[in-house]
Amino acid sequence: MGRTSKDKRDVYYRLAKENGWRARSAFKLLQLDEEFHLFQGVTRAVDLCAAPGSWSQVLSQKIGVQGSGHVVAVDLQAMAPLPGVLQIQGDITQLSTAKEIIQHFEGCPADLVVCDGAPDVTGLHDVDEYMQAQLLLAALNIATHVLKPGGCFVAKIFRGRDVTLIYSQLRVFFSSVLCAKPRSSRNSSIEAFAVCQGYDPPEGFLPDLTKPLLDHSYDPDFNQLDGPTRIIVPFVTCGDLSAYDSDRSYPLDLEDGSEYKYTPPTQPPISPPYQEACTLKKKGRLAKEIRPQDCPISTVDTLSQ
Ligand code: SAM
Repeated sequence: MGRTSKDKRDVYYRLAKENGWRARSAFKLLQLDEEFHLFQGVTRAVDLCAAPGSWSQVLSQKIGVQGSGHVVAVDLQAMAPLPGVLQIQGDITQLSTAKEIIQHFEGCPADLVVCDGAPDVTGLHDVDEYMQAQLLLAALNIATHVLKPGGCFVAKIFRGRDVTLIYSQLRVFFSSVLCAKPRSSRNSSIEAFAVCQGYDPPEGFLPDLTKPLLDHSYDPDFNQLDGPTRIIVPFVTCGDLSAYDSDRSYPLDLEDGSEYKYTPPTQPPISPPYQEACTLKKKGRLAKEIRPQDCPISTVDTLSQ
């Protein structure tokens, strides 16, 4: 497969490189903003699960470049520096990370918290959806510590079986909750974004990161409730309808007639978790580790000689 094939298959991947974005996800945030004007009046923003940093790039360009806005980016992975973005390498499920964010804002609350977090996908849909939901709830939990009343929270959501339970949870904290699908998010993916506006926690609510917002002992049938307890949120597609379709392949010839030229990625990830596997694969050494306890006795004897 040539290096141009991904450019053909994924127009947003190609455009991201040509426009200097670190990842194609930048277009998702830009298209969400087209619909919801997320950055209006925002001076403090938190980007949770930020690496390699395309959402932080968007945030820094939209609110941080003049030096008046503040952007804090958090990820488990290291991220190349970005002007106007303060980085925390940490886990969003940890209290210590929330404390660090609060410290960086010197006690001032944020206007906007975004989270494009994704766990490592296993391919087991139920497990993946569960993990995604937990990550979203961890993001919401941190948001309850740092968001100003009336503030906005945007987070990646998987529209799986239990999604109405998440909407119910979000509606406890926000006056408006919508599910949005930007044009740059593939139709074939269950990915969408919860856009939650008007942060308004219940009276007497005290943010507490030691407690998960979703009670693990909940009755699985809760989600099946109907009537007034079942929350159905509006679904909005966003991005100009004339924008590129993320499920289509486009020819490499540019519309303005200029010749296609391959553009390398803007900023390859710093030590991504898959790097070791790639190196081992190149050397033909990507074999499963053989542990003595997996081997029959006779093989163990042979191996240890
Ligand atoms: N929005 C990013 C961008 O535009 O470049 C892309 C985010 S990427 C899809 C998902 C990120 O979630 C990964 O970098 C991963 O390390 C991060 N992540 C997953 N679980 C996390 C956790 N518990 N704490 C912090 N980051 C996490």
